[in-house]
Amino acid sequence: MKKLPLLFLVLALSCSTPNQVDLLITNVHIIDVENGEVSKNQMIAISDNRIIAVDEASNSANYMYKEIMDGDGTFAMPGLWDNHVHFRGGENLIEQNKAMLPMFLAFGVTTVRDGGGDITPAIRDWQTEIENGELAGPTIFTPGPKIDGSNPAWDGSIKVLAVEDALTALESLEGIFADFVKIYDGNLSPDAYYAVITEAEARGLKVTGHMPLSADLITAANLGLDGIEHLYYALTETALNADEIQQENPGYAAITPLMDNYNAELANQTYAQLAESQFYVTPTLHIGRTLAELNITDHSNDSLLAYMSPEIVDTYQRRIRSAARGGEIYTNQRQRWGEAFRAMVKPMHDAGIHILAGSDCGPFNSYVYPGASIHEELEELVNAGLSPPEALSTSIINGPRFFDLEDKYGSLEAGKVADIILLKENPLENISHTKSVIITIKNGTYYSTKNLRQQLNSKN
Ligand SMILES: [Zn+2]
Repeated sequence: MKKLPLLFLVLALSCSTPNQVDLLITNVHIIDVENGEVSKNQMIAISDNRIIAVDEASNSANYMYKEIMDGDGTFAMPGLWDNHVHFRGGENLIEQNKAMLPMFLAFGVTTVRDGGGDITPAIRDWQTEIENGELAGPTIFTPGPKIDGSNPAWDGSIKVLAVEDALTALESLEGIFADFVKIYDGNLSPDAYYAVITEAEARGLKVTGHMPLSADLITAANLGLDGIEHLYYALTETALNADEIQQENPGYAAITPLMDNYNAELANQTYAQLAESQFYVTPTLHIGRTLAELNITDHSNDSLLAYMSPEIVDTYQRRIRSAARGGEIYTNQRQRWGEAFRAMVKPMHDAGIHILAGSDCGPFNSYVYPGASIHEELEELVNAGLSPPEALSTSIINGPRFFDLEDKYGSLEAGKVADIILLKENPLENISHTKSVIITIKNGTYYSTKNLRQQLNSKN
């Protein structure tokens, strides 16, 4: 009881003295992605890269600030997460990969989840520089090198040939403080695959990736697999007679026949089982479409080509050549795959699987541009049947949820990280409005997307 008067005094002081903050953004409408709602005429107070308060714009006078920004009636939303990107191409492409980082901010992407590659030490350096405000770029979560079988599809991967190798592989990832584990499906045996998942689970590391088609997805999920990248790996659990189809059509030759035998009832059972184990799926529909159309779309006038290093654009040739070799058969098959994958997203989402928006942008992935491509993926997800708020959730809410970081990201509220974008138009009404982003606030700095894009344009 004695302490009461003192407490009262402190409260009284804090009401009468304006709060001192680093940045005050006034006159914004705040997008609540989770509830699909807009709070009109608000202000956001930021200090040390954290949101200190969100309040009625009319209360702005209660805050003292080092800097003030008139939001001018724009819509404020958490920065976008691209949950599947790539930094890779070896030592010779480190600087070119680094040059892509501001592109993410120029399109409102404040966090990326890297799909693993061969330049981990460089990525580690960028993470520190970005955190210290020395480099303009998104927060990066990286798995370090991928884990693959005896004949890895990508350089720099860790080979797991037998079950025993899983332990060594996971120890080495732990040694470099990998943010999560990414598995690839070059030629991992199912047992080695399960062993990697088990070792990751034992270390409390999230694990996602491709899956050997001969492995069983439900078994993997029960062992601790947290998600899959791309939709191929759900096909074996959604087709009738999948085992026979796979025996007759080894490897990826099974993809089209599996799609032809897709059974909605079986699929819904599988999706419900996966949802029970808090499963994540990154459909990567936009790159699917881009690759399917490689032979029939002329990209030579893409305005975004100007932002890319010529050396990165050179890496595009690998997929362009392979598409050209496949000709019409390649195009038809890829288009068929695209349709089938698009049709799987809404039932997965409705079953409770966490869908993740990921673009797969980066070297080798032809014409899937860093930053810009996540907006295309969000449009694809709406085309697949998600509402605009649901599509936004796959980026802004499910991205942090995958890493158990909901307390730091996902909404504009006091205590959360101040990764904020300002948009001219409301994306809850039309998903394409994410493209109207004009300001990105990251690590205490605010970037005009127009200026960033101009700088990127003049550099290359
Ligand atoms: Zn990828």
